[in-house]
Amino acid sequence: MKNVLDDKLPASGFPASEHDHADCVERAVQTAEQICRERGLRLTAQRRRVLELVWNSHKPVGAYEILAELKDDGRNAAPPTVYRALEFLIEANLVHRLDSLNAFVGCPDPHNPHTGQFLICRQCRSVAELGDKRISDMIDSSAEDCGFSATHQTLEIQGVCQACRT
Ligand SMILES: [Zn+2]
Ligand SMILES: [Zn+2]
Ligand SMILES: [Zn+2]
Repeated sequence: MKNVLDDKLPASGFPASEHDHADCVERAVQTAEQICRERGLRLTAQRRRVLELVWNSHKPVGAYEILAELKDDGRNAAPPTVYRALEFLIEANLVHRLDSLNAFVGCPDPHNPHTGQFLICRQCRSVAELGDKRISDMIDSSAEDCGFSATHQTLEIQGVCQACRT
């Protein structure tokens, strides 16, 4: 399996400020289609559209922003429909939820099982995934020392990205 860091996936770090984002969206949708095919999941038109809207940029989006966009599409979208679509995408590892922002972000590497470590820029609100196994292993073993079996980890790290620092 190819390591995400070898790939030029923009979100394996922060995306270059100038890049062809349509490409990111297309790749995300293609990957989602492939994953759903492999796992026998159904990527309905609604779920696919919600995924596209999450991938609108590299900044996290809230459910209500997604809802507003769907309404603009002229789709009959109610909050439960959007939440169900998001739930599906999260279960399929295509989207991550950022609790501190109550928002959602597309996963650039859904093929590789990983626990979420997110760098969140306070200035431009861009998000990058770290996916550093050393960190998650360390948390697992520290938790184990407390007799605790960790099943899920999400680390949200706030700071300033390189583009905003320069
Ligand atoms: Zn992009
Ligand atoms: Zn991810
Ligand atoms: Zn930034």
